[in-house]
Amino acid sequence: MSQISPSNFNISNSANTIFGVILNDKKTLDTLAPQLNDAPYKAPAKAPVLYIKPFSTLNTTDTVALPKDTESLELGTTLALVMGKKATRLTADNALEHVSGVALAVDLSIPHDSYYRPAIVEKCFDGSLVLGNKQALPADFSAITLTTKVNDDIVNTRSLADLKRDVATLLVDVTEFMSLSEGDVLLVGVEYQAPQAKAGDKVSVTAEGLGTDGASDELSFTVAKNQSEVVKENVAKEISLTELTGRALIDGKVETVTATADGKAKTADGREFAEDELNWLPPVEIGTVFALGLNYADHAAELAFKAPEKPLVFLKGKNTLVGHNANTRRPANTDYMHYECELAVVIGKQAKNVRAEDAKDYIAGYAVANDYAIRDYLENYYRPNLRVKNRDHCTPIGPWLTPVDKVADPMNLKLITRVNGETTQEGTTSDMIFSVYTLVEYLSNIMTLNAGDVILTGTPEGLADTKHGDVIETEIEGLGILRNTIVNDATYFG
Ligand code: CA
Repeated sequence: MSQISPSNFNISNSANTIFGVILNDKKTLDTLAPQLNDAPYKAPAKAPVLYIKPFSTLNTTDTVALPKDTESLELGTTLALVMGKKATRLTADNALEHVSGVALAVDLSIPHDSYYRPAIVEKCFDGSLVLGNKQALPADFSAITLTTKVNDDIVNTRSLADLKRDVATLLVDVTEFMSLSEGDVLLVGVEYQAPQAKAGDKVSVTAEGLGTDGASDELSFTVAKNQSEVVKENVAKEISLTELTGRALIDGKVETVTATADGKAKTADGREFAEDELNWLPPVEIGTVFALGLNYADHAAELAFKAPEKPLVFLKGKNTLVGHNANTRRPANTDYMHYECELAVVIGKQAKNVRAEDAKDYIAGYAVANDYAIRDYLENYYRPNLRVKNRDHCTPIGPWLTPVDKVADPMNLKLITRVNGETTQEGTTSDMIFSVYTLVEYLSNIMTLNAGDVILTGTPEGLADTKHGDVIETEIEGLGILRNTIVNDATYFG
């Protein structure tokens, strides 16, 4: 069969996010039931437990390569929903109207037992998401049966009638706390400890109840020993800057602006705007968003955690991003929502297996970010879970992207947060546990990084609750001041 290309799905690295969910089938929940009340989980999950597959995982060949030091991969056979329009706070009645199609999917993972921390290493390697052809919405999801074969032996059969949250309920429960955009993909769940395949194995998946004739659909691929056996298209896009650069929506059009000597924003054709006259966007088209947990020793201590031995990386969706001077919603009945002033590192060109000493060559520049968290919703699955960290517009970034060559030492910059003019958070990037360059090395050894990908490098101590009407300024020495206003539901939804 022909595998997909991103254009087949109208999915774009700079506009879309691929989400998956775990613990969404009865078999998995039965198997894990005895563990879910114990450490580290302590309680069964209340909300859907989501994860994000970065764009590099999208397989555009018919081969999946085993990551280094890996003997076999788990075959997470599932169904992908492709969103047809923006979906916010859906109801059971209208949920399926927001889906434009479906596709067979195999979400490959390096075998892992724990769901406590997001499985970046295990779930985000290149080519680890195989999607079949986009098909029309089936009349009855519960009539779909997925059969997985390895070398023609059936290794797994699952019925979508056994989902814990059926497709409509899943959409309702996910969009209760975050939006899905047109072109986003939502995988409806992979089973715990799915069957595995090793190098040389041919994997095929068939779906009864799916396909243009409603009869069946199929996808297949081969597992290769390593990346060199997989032909991958080169991504030529690069971001190279010489001036402070931002973006704004001017008369309905996205325009790139640069900073003038007196702090104004200038369009390519020479129009100048004061900072408060513009409707700012994130300073570049952003691809995959990485964020670091506990990357400042003082902040780890503040939360009573030991400093981590490896970077604690999680991913964020495009729905979280918003520009300078925007509003961010504090949902009703929230007890604790705090800001996090962070140095954002924007990747300038494709990076794979980069060493820390070469990392600077792959960085386009730096920006200020504010990575809000709503602690009320913390659950011990893939923490910090998406209900805490992935709300719409909870990650302002900007105003400017400062070129890498204009920042003498990214590891020696002061960070400051002010709430209504009063300083509440102060720190320095010199206190980071894993440096900017180490993070580029770490991530680019797990997956391919692309121009526009951004790493939010963590926050120092000094977090505080925010309330409706608060004006939050996050500032990083030499990079500018990012302003954001906290609003309530009525203001946000208008
Ligand atoms: Ca953060």
